[in-house]
Amino acid sequence: MQTADIQNRWLTYFGDRGHTIVPSASLVSDDPTLLFTVAGMVPFVPYLTGLVPAPYDRATSVQKCIRTLDIEEVGKTPRHGTFFQMNGNFSFGDYFKKEAIGFAWEFLTLPEADGGLGFRPEDLWVTVYEDDDDAVAYWKDTAGLPDERIQRLGMDTNYWSTGQPGPAGPCSEIFFDRGPEYGADGGPATDDDRYVEIWNLVFMQYLRGEGKGKEFSILGELPKQNIDTGMGLERVAFLKQGVENMYEIDQVRPVLDKAAELSGRTYGADHEADVRLRVVADHVRSSLMLIADGVTPSNEGRGYVLRRLLRRTVRAMRLLGVEGTTFAELFPESRDAMKAAYPEVEKDYDRISRIVLAEEDVFMRTLASGTTILDTAVENTKKSGASELPSDTAFLLHDTFGFPIDLTLEMAAEAGLSVDRDAFDTLMKQQRDRAKADAGSKKQFLADLSVYGAFRALGETTFTGYENLQTDSSVI
Ligand code: ATP
Ligand code: MG
Ligand code: MG
Ligand code: MG
Repeated sequence: MQTADIQNRWLTYFGDRGHTIVPSASLVSDDPTLLFTVAGMVPFVPYLTGLVPAPYDRATSVQKCIRTLDIEEVGKTPRHGTFFQMNGNFSFGDYFKKEAIGFAWEFLTLPEADGGLGFRPEDLWVTVYEDDDDAVAYWKDTAGLPDERIQRLGMDTNYWSTGQPGPAGPCSEIFFDRGPEYGADGGPATDDDRYVEIWNLVFMQYLRGEGKGKEFSILGELPKQNIDTGMGLERVAFLKQGVENMYEIDQVRPVLDKAAELSGRTYGADHEADVRLRVVADHVRSSLMLIADGVTPSNEGRGYVLRRLLRRTVRAMRLLGVEGTTFAELFPESRDAMKAAYPEVEKDYDRISRIVLAEEDVFMRTLASGTTILDTAVENTKKSGASELPSDTAFLLHDTFGFPIDLTLEMAAEAGLSVDRDAFDTLMKQQRDRAKADAGSKKQFLADLSVYGAFRALGETTFTGYENLQTDSSVI
């Protein structure tokens, strides 16, 4: 089942059930406090909060998303992409928990011939918030799920709130069991490699009051209860396509294969190389989609995220053993894999290609000059009899030459030297603190905020999302 087929089944299923089909919004969110669209609900936030009356009672979409917070997971877990698509169905004061559970179950288990995904009921597990007895009852009655495949979990995973007074409520998540060869028995509460999370149902039910973290008061039920759900398109695609992870699906695999060909690697032969091939496949696609949505490489904000994705790709290819340029061969593979779903990547390809080739060229040269600096520092260190490269050299390479720290670590190690990582981190932190102080009110552009930063638009209360602000220095 091709990814585009799953997308069509989704839109048809929910469209047939009274949902208005809303096209994906841009990856660049309208909300100035968000770097990117990080979930399907982002474009619907004004309706979900009740700030703006929704023009429909029910909606559905397949939303392009970027989550840089997941970047370190890419290639290592089977399920985290920096770019992915989230299929959502939304109810604005219309249907609620019972129907949301009924739709999710039916769509997943309906035979393929009838427009569903044809999952076997016995492969599916769910989690619910610990005291959400209604949800448990609906999973049993409406979906016919046995008790032992319904797990009750706490606030950390199964409760949604904005982090400030406003709508809040329990979540219920659906998982696919890949079988004992992937990990321990015991359901999603025990093993997140064997049991893959595919769908999150959020029941916006309560009005929360003041509080911090997971400690807050509930003021009562919301007058209008809403549904927000998100199903990971790539996750479902990899499970339906019978492959091992989301980097092997039809929309991603061709880039991986090209990277393997260019580096003379056999995918599956070596774990470390496989991770790098998956990183390349992921980052090339994310970069393609970001540029198609108008982002260009730069040293701040969204452009910096793009720049880091491109540089990490160069670096991964280099670590795979390729010294020369590769973008001219990798990007067309991604374009061809994505153009059925997003024709703009083909129409706009000349511009996209010019941008990536220029960026690759600049970074290759940067890499060359940085390498000269590093070689000199290595020589001096050795002459002095020390075994550790000065941390300020590592910092200079990062700051001025855009050298990822792990590249410096690796190159130093090749020369038999170590780097004081703690001292380097301290220098990085000092720089971040300076940047924060300088940026003042512009600080949001340094961060990939959680989706709930969108609620800052509510205005009256202090937004606490910045406490989770991540500068992502680890990205390159
Ligand atoms: P996980 O626990 O696996 O990191 P999540 O709980 O962070 O996922 P949600 O915020 O609940 O994910 O997003 C809704 C759905 O979107 C998930 O159930 C999953 O199917 C999909 N999804 C989330 N993050 C990613 C990602 N980085 N790559 C691919 N799909 C994703
Ligand atoms: Mg996550
Ligand atoms: Mg999760
Ligand atoms: Mg989740």
